[in-house]
Amino acid sequence: MEISYLRISVTDKCNLKCFYCRPDNMDYIPHQEILRYEEIAKLVKAMTKYGLKKVRITGGEPLVRPQIENLVYLLKQIPQIEDIGMTTNGITLAQHAEKLKKSGLNRLNISIDSLKPDLFYQITKGRLEDVLEGIKVSKKLGFDPIKVNAVIIKGLNDNEALDFVEFGIEYGVEVRFIEMMPLGQGYIKWEEEMVKPLDEIKQKIEEKYGRLLPSFSIGSGAAKVYQLPKYKTKIGFITPISNPFCDGCSKLRLTAEGSIKLCLRTDEEIPVKEVLRNGSEEDLDKFLQKVLIEKELSNMKIQKSNYSFSDCARVMTSIGG
Ligand code: SAM
Repeated sequence: MEISYLRISVTDKCNLKCFYCRPDNMDYIPHQEILRYEEIAKLVKAMTKYGLKKVRITGGEPLVRPQIENLVYLLKQIPQIEDIGMTTNGITLAQHAEKLKKSGLNRLNISIDSLKPDLFYQITKGRLEDVLEGIKVSKKLGFDPIKVNAVIIKGLNDNEALDFVEFGIEYGVEVRFIEMMPLGQGYIKWEEEMVKPLDEIKQKIEEKYGRLLPSFSIGSGAAKVYQLPKYKTKIGFITPISNPFCDGCSKLRLTAEGSIKLCLRTDEEIPVKEVLRNGSEEDLDKFLQKVLIEKELSNMKIQKSNYSFSDCARVMTSIGG
């Protein structure tokens, strides 16, 4: 098995408070427990031997970690890494975008769950206009494509699908709709009724714009991507609930405190910090071989069983979404 993609969470802290992602009573990871940038780069470099080419920096909110551009720069120095992306809420992007660009960040995914300032605030406790400013600045700097991710929650923002498409056309960004996953039960109140199957959203868009044509977008990963007729805009759908995409998954996640998370459907994690901090290069290589075997076993287990996202006790903000 090859591992070609790693999502790297650099912090569990966030400057927003999305109700489905960040519980009130969250304990933060103590600073000394968080992986240093050099440790992350060391791991990424070691993983290139097993096919790693693409990384995505996330969190928590990656832009709240000081000098995050230094990590981008370190990763950029690894020749096998072809693509460095970042998922951000965009709140402070306007202030960071230039440094990120100069350090070698290739792509940006920006989360926006509502285009209505009031509802945006209700969901996130943040200001939509800050995010929009971040997108404008990033566009000017030449980030392309910029993808805007909207988690669709029935009864809350599911009536905004067409607004998001118009927004995509106006701002020249790709729009991706995401079904909400029941992660972190016990911390987060999740009900099945909150999930809006995205084929209904797709149908609504097609009624207005005509048939969406299957397309491709760099780094589309789990998203099914379509071309909007008559426009440059692409629309993506990520459907972990209505149409799971686990077959052949080779995605790994690195949590901020240094565990490799094999899959979002289980709590299986393999701590890597000790070997990164105190092991030899050979120890790290042996560790990675073990991770590859465990990932394959985990994939087989998921295929044969009824694991669901509700078997994952962590909320997304502490995993690295
Ligand atoms: N702070 C950054 C951001 O807002 O993009 C990165 C981390 S955030 C956890 C990444 C993405 O995960 C966001 O788009 C968020 O909406 C999404 N997310 C969080 N919890 C989710 C859930 N239960 N189901 C689906 N997406 C979720």
